[in-house]
Amino acid sequence: AKSEGRNLYRFFEPAMDAIVQARRALEVDLDTALPRQEFDLDFQPIMNIASGEIIGAEALMRWHSPARGTVAPDAFIPVAEETGLIVPLGEWALRKACAAAASWPHGMRIAVNVSAVQLKSGGFARSVISALAFSGVPARQLELEITETVLMDESKTVLKTLRQLRDLGIRIALDDFGTGYSSLGYLRRFPVDKIKIDRSFIHDMGNRDTAAIVRTIIGLGNELGIVVTAEGVETEMQLDMLRDNGCEEAQGYLIGVPSKAADIQRLLKARALH
Ligand code: C2E
Ligand code: CA
Ligand code: CA
Ligand code: CA
Repeated sequence: AKSEGRNLYRFFEPAMDAIVQARRALEVDLDTALPRQEFDLDFQPIMNIASGEIIGAEALMRWHSPARGTVAPDAFIPVAEETGLIVPLGEWALRKACAAAASWPHGMRIAVNVSAVQLKSGGFARSVISALAFSGVPARQLELEITETVLMDESKTVLKTLRQLRDLGIRIALDDFGTGYSSLGYLRRFPVDKIKIDRSFIHDMGNRDTAAIVRTIIGLGNELGIVVTAEGVETEMQLDMLRDNGCEEAQGYLIGVPSKAADIQRLLKARALH
């Protein structure tokens, strides 16, 4: 058995080395990607369900790597969070998103994803204020999407920063709602203007129990005066169910896929509130 174990070790070691090396190579490529301007933002429209109007869009990061092709954010954002790159990268995204929104029709919202690492880094509020001032976008048009991980350690700095941003008129949205450990507890302790029901719930809304959960989240939002957005809406049936249950906003492939800045600007102009 002993020699068998050693053989296994000899078998796995090169594989482990390959993983570690691939990860290091990714970090190196990521590190030069920002100065080389390899990042870009796509924008996905968000619709008011009752009126059918597009009320804004969410900025979604893309990495166009010359060596790797287009890399999805789920593959590089966790790495950028570990290396700390997410701080300058997130600031870049915020400025870029506000710059795009500056040429959108009046009142259109821009939603930007914010990592816990950014919020804890210090100076975050200052960088938000600067991005707004530089672009001329009013604070009330900006939404910051955070996940539970931001709130998990109950840091005083994070709470203070969120309050400060909210006092300026910026909206705070709780992203991927329902997937964490204690979504309800956070609603009680943190200032939140919007919850975004995670797309896994919307996907399974054909299931009776999941449909009941979605209805309950919408009811909860209505009771608390919190706007509810459903993400990952892909079918008319899902949209009908959400409308019937009083869900305010929807986002997903049915309404529109993430698109280039120029395309989203055209869409917003065509489907804006007149
Ligand atoms: P998210 O914030 O939950 O963003 C929604 C994701 O769902 C996006 O994936 C979007 O393309 C996808 N999606 C939208 N509609 C549908 C639909 O109808 N069906 C399905 N199956 N998917 C849909 P994406 O662009 O790959 O982004 C993945 C995640 O990466 C985001 O999840 C967000 O957590 C993170 N992310 C993206 N951009 C940024 C950023 O600028 N900063 C930070 N910190 N995170 C970001
Ligand atoms: Ca989001
Ligand atoms: Ca989400
Ligand atoms: Ca997500």
